[in-house]
Amino acid sequence: MLLFLNCSQFFQSFDMVSKTAEQMLGIFPMSEYETIIKESHEALRLAAEQFEAGTLPPDSLKKVSAPLGIYQQSNGLFMARIRVPGGFLTPALMRKIAQIAKLHGAGFLHLTTRQDVQAHGLKPLALYPFVRDCTESGLPFRGGGGDTFRNIICSDGAGMSPDAVFDIFPHVMALNNFLLRYQRAYSLPRKFKPGFSSSSHDEQFAKLQDLGFSAHTLHGKHGFTVYGGGGMGRVSAPGVLLFDFLPEDQILKCAAAMVNLFDEHGDRSDRSRARIRFIVAKMGHDAFRSLFLDYFAKTDAPLAEIASTPLYLRETKVPQTVKSASENQAFREWLSHASRPSRGAGPEPCCELSFFPKNGNLSPDDFSGMASLAEECGVLIVQVSRRQRLIFPALPSCALPFVHESLLGSRFSARLDAAGLDGLFTSCIGASVCKIGMLDAPSIACAAAAGLERFLASWDGGAPDQLRQKLLSSVRFSGCHNSCGVHLTSALGFQGLKRKVNDEMKELCRVFVARHAENSTLSEPVEGLEVPVANVPAVICSIVADYASSDAFRHGQSFADFVCSATKERIAALAAQSQ
Ligand code: SF4
Repeated sequence: MLLFLNCSQFFQSFDMVSKTAEQMLGIFPMSEYETIIKESHEALRLAAEQFEAGTLPPDSLKKVSAPLGIYQQSNGLFMARIRVPGGFLTPALMRKIAQIAKLHGAGFLHLTTRQDVQAHGLKPLALYPFVRDCTESGLPFRGGGGDTFRNIICSDGAGMSPDAVFDIFPHVMALNNFLLRYQRAYSLPRKFKPGFSSSSHDEQFAKLQDLGFSAHTLHGKHGFTVYGGGGMGRVSAPGVLLFDFLPEDQILKCAAAMVNLFDEHGDRSDRSRARIRFIVAKMGHDAFRSLFLDYFAKTDAPLAEIASTPLYLRETKVPQTVKSASENQAFREWLSHASRPSRGAGPEPCCELSFFPKNGNLSPDDFSGMASLAEECGVLIVQVSRRQRLIFPALPSCALPFVHESLLGSRFSARLDAAGLDGLFTSCIGASVCKIGMLDAPSIACAAAAGLERFLASWDGGAPDQLRQKLLSSVRFSGCHNSCGVHLTSALGFQGLKRKVNDEMKELCRVFVARHAENSTLSEPVEGLEVPVANVPAVICSIVADYASSDAFRHGQSFADFVCSATKERIAALAAQSQ
């Protein structure tokens, strides 16, 4: 299985392309790639030593560290981003990450909305050994940050999700292996974010990538609807439709064409307008599409060799529990929000199971503990989800009582079973850690969760846990316009900002609402509505109370649909009432 291979073995599929051909296609030969990796690590080592000695300023260190996905935090320590294509990890890799993080003094691991695993709290001199050890374990750092291609993301559950058209795991790996060695993907005008969605239900997020692939079949053949030039940030835009159907073996050529186009047409004079979506805005959709198709026609790249779908499960004797968990109310509630159907193949019925680290943060020991739990249940692939959960895409249902008992016992230092809302809204890491951020999104999200829990405690309109689940999937937070908390993809989103009002710097949140719960691309700001941070809980509670007392709620409409159908004036009025 691909994920058990080490870094060099990842590239075996390219051995059939001769070195000369590789060079002609712009693909680093393996030896050159390894040299570049070593040189970038060596440069990091030197820069970190000079920084520690006080002879190199932070900005100069950043020039070396950012392309490796390493950034200084607000507290002066460092974050190192481990790119995890598709969020897919084996238990062995998880344990390795935990071991390396612990060895080099990382305080905690953070799961990002782009399915990376970030190690936080590293000291400068720990950076080089951390990167070296991860790379030797098959987790190359190149492209974790800077003006390079970023982690390739994919739908939660991947091929095990019942609505998946087919398993996109092999496609994510094929594209990652290709781009890692594609020379032009490393000196782009700005970052380049690719992604795959496995079903039409999830096509929305493929539209929000610089290059997004949404799985489809045509006459029984696998392929993708392809979008380009989408993204979120200070200026956000959905992507342009590039192909209704692209055969799966053309994905490398498609990515190479987009990288080449970006390399030659991106605005290198203005970083704030350098992303592909600004090329689209300048040219218009039709001209961009036609430019892309020209690049596609003239780009040479190997056909993608799509490996077979990996094994998600092995047969194992699942440990037995002492209690009859199925009679337990807490167990049933946990199942209702943590599990959903899975296609998992095996002799036993299977489910997909989610684990909910608070604010997406886990200690290295708990991360390693999750690896052990997966192994004990026969789970071969664990996924970091876009909602900052850990997922077992396929778990034998008979293992559920054992997993539940493991979560409630002393095995983990933190709750991972999602009892309540605290720490479970999707949010970015926030400005208490992120140096370029505005506000601390996790603490805003936690304050909102606390306010909602108070509301739910006095609410007698139904099952609070069901309402919690509706809210968790519909409300998101970002600490600034960079939108790392993907608030623009939720029904109700909050974006932090600071603004001077009467000579006083105020901490505010801009409120975003989606127009359509299904198939919308981006939510929109409620014009003129900027809520003081302290009032965010009251604003959310006011909107939720309006929903919970509405006919829409009584008739079973989701919270997302309710927010989408409410006028912006209504949202603004509710916000005003609550303040
Ligand atoms: S959204 Fe802003 S605050 Fe949050 S992680 Fe991204 S850059 Fe930092």
